[in-house]
Amino acid sequence: DSVEAEVYHGLDIDLQRAIRSNELEVHYQPQVDLADGRPIAAEALLRWRHPTSGPIPPTTIVGIAENTGIIGSLTFWVLNAVLRNAAHLAKEGITPRFSVNLSTRTLVDHELPDIVEQALGTWGVPPGRITLEITESSMIGDAERTMAMLTRLKGTGVELAIDDFGTGYSSLAYLKRFPVDELKIDRLFVSGLLADRGDHQIVRSVIDLAHNFDLRAVAEGVEEEDTRAELARMGCDLVQGYLISRPLPEREFRAWWASREKGR
Ligand code: C2E
Ligand code: MG
Ligand code: MG
Repeated sequence: DSVEAEVYHGLDIDLQRAIRSNELEVHYQPQVDLADGRPIAAEALLRWRHPTSGPIPPTTIVGIAENTGIIGSLTFWVLNAVLRNAAHLAKEGITPRFSVNLSTRTLVDHELPDIVEQALGTWGVPPGRITLEITESSMIGDAERTMAMLTRLKGTGVELAIDDFGTGYSSLAYLKRFPVDELKIDRLFVSGLLADRGDHQIVRSVIDLAHNFDLRAVAEGVEEEDTRAELARMGCDLVQGYLISRPLPEREFRAWWASREKGR
């Protein structure tokens, strides 16, 4: 919006420079199996510490990139950073599944599946170890076009997740038709799980919906042990949130994962 535009005036040029000069970073937030606590996956989250403005929220970065037509380069940068790290960690026997967020705007980019395929090939990471997250709201609109894009992405061998599930309106018919593998329950409902009956019912419904369609259910934004315990009781598959770990820089993530696996 206009306030953001004013506050972040000039950042668009900085962003192009930041992409080129590796000023951007990817942090990794672990996801663990709710049944036994095993580390399974990690979500890649974009970070930019601007030299003078300080940390810029990832949603702002993505907004700038979308509005200035460089979202394709940004997506390419993030994918390559994640896959380089994945290839590096695999040499040490650390093989999480990695989730990467895709912006709504990228989904209409016809070159996206080729970009994904090229990056996978460059780093030699098995496609099945990558999950691409799209938001529910980006699926509505031109359903045919979305369907075609998701089918092409799926054709590269990656998995697909619907992020922030429950906040948009998706029809059951979409779930039946779209080739998705995972539903991520929005943080909003997870945080209200124990206090709000409506939130509890929504979480319950999403987990059941996921399982009825043979998808995995991931709860994000879990901050309290009581919430984790209730999600486990409800049969949710994976959990992500500050309770498990904050998003971590590459090296700290590697250390976290190694000690988590060793401690088992
Ligand atoms: P998201 O994909 O829903 O990511 C989850 C957000 O929840 C992250 O915020 C994460 O730091 C935060 N979070 C995780 N656990 C907790 C918790 O226990 N409590 C609380 N309060 N928050 C938690 P973050 O990193 O600020 O990212 C915000 C959004 O920016 C993401 O939401 C995603 O939509 C977008 N984003 C981040 N990185 C990328 C990227 O590389 N590409 C694109 N297109 N979007 C990105
Ligand atoms: Mg996400
Ligand atoms: Mg989310």
